[in-house]
Amino acid sequence: MHGPASVGAAVDHVFAVATAAESHTLDGLLQAVSRHRGRPLRIIENPDLPAGVFGHWIRFTDRDEVSYASWAQTRDRTVAHELGHIVLGHTGSPVLEVAQSLLPADMHDLAVLVLQRECGNSAAADDELAAEQFASLLLNRLRSLGRGAPRLRSRWGEALG
Ligand SMILES: [Zn+2]
Repeated sequence: MHGPASVGAAVDHVFAVATAAESHTLDGLLQAVSRHRGRPLRIIENPDLPAGVFGHWIRFTDRDEVSYASWAQTRDRTVAHELGHIVLGHTGSPVLEVAQSLLPADMHDLAVLVLQRECGNSAAADDELAAEQFASLLLNRLRSLGRGAPRLRSRWGEALG
């Protein structure tokens, strides 16, 4: 279902909804996706993720939250991977909201713990592979765009110099 073609299309989609300026940085692309979805997207460093879990995405009723482990080798790689889950329509925690609506309030934290999508090195499901492909394609394209924008870079040089 999530073959390379659909992953490539998802990366194309992200760049298509981004403005020219946004398409130069991962943070810009995150902003574009958030705007396109009409949902705030928070990125947070989380030192308390379980061992082996490098990141996770929680889909709340009104917002998305992506966190990355403090030990994760690169923030960008982890965040791009989680963005892949979001853009590829992996439902993440589809039953989280339902569970929370059924559970008493003091159980909501537990529901989050049980139902959030956690991404670790041991994960090998199709969704994980697709999210990894997405992250590779997205970051590669960002890098190639960066190389193709010498004018922007020299402007920064002037501004900073
Ligand atoms: Zn994942």
